Amino acid sequence: MRTKSRLGIMGGTFDPIHFGHLVAAEEALVQFNLDKVIFMPTGHPARKTEQQVTSAEQRYLMTVIATSSNPDFEVSRMEVDRPGLTYTVDTMVELREQYGPHAELYFITGADAVFEIATWKESERFEGLCRFIAVTRPGYDLEAAVSENAQALSRLDIDFIEVPALAISSTDLRARVAERRPIRYLVPEPVAAYIQKYRLYSEGY
Ligand code: ATP
Ligand code: MG
Repeated sequence: MRTKSRLGIMGGTFDPIHFGHLVAAEEALVQFNLDKVIFMPTGHPARKTEQQVTSAEQRYLMTVIATSSNPDFEVSRMEVDRPGLTYTVDTMVELREQYGPHAELYFITGADAVFEIATWKESERFEGLCRFIAVTRPGYDLEAAVSENAQALSRLDIDFIEVPALAISSTDLRARVAERRPIRYLVPEPVAAYIQKYRLYSEGY
């Protein structure tokens, strides 16, 4: 078997994972002819320390059950198992070591998150390490966003792709569960069942 060398990495808190994440990953897989997409649930999100986040193990398990039917999707425990706050660049360095210098690494993320990364002090550490696939929704004013962030963006290697208008967010899903509104058809059925079984998001959110 040929060694897989064009890898997509779909990072996220996945609290919970939803069809927006899955569609974005599938679209990147096909448009960039990737060998596989590795879903990478964040262990201890450095940028979400203020908010209550479901345990890494549960977010990891929901990601596994959501992706299990797709042979081109994998889930990695790398960030979940790494102690301390999670930084994407550490993950990319580790993946680079694991897959070797010839692997092409594509970090798949929302366009807004890419602009944020581009303005981080340490964003130059990404140079030569990985490329970015920034996901936008149809109707998103990409030109305005790009020109606003032009200087920061010049340091990163970014391609933009549009995915179908999925206005789904984990924040909205958590609110829906708390308010007993439906999440069916917004997340894979086994994820909805998992949320119900462990009574996630129903109290204290
Ligand atoms: P939250 O509302 O808690 O921030 P989220 O829905 O944005 O959650 P994350 O786990 O933060 O989910 O997102 C992981 C990645 O998926 C991010 O890069 C984000 O931009 C992207 N993403 C989130 N929702 C969608 C969507 N509906 N369509 C495409 N990409 C999405
Ligand atoms: Mg988000």
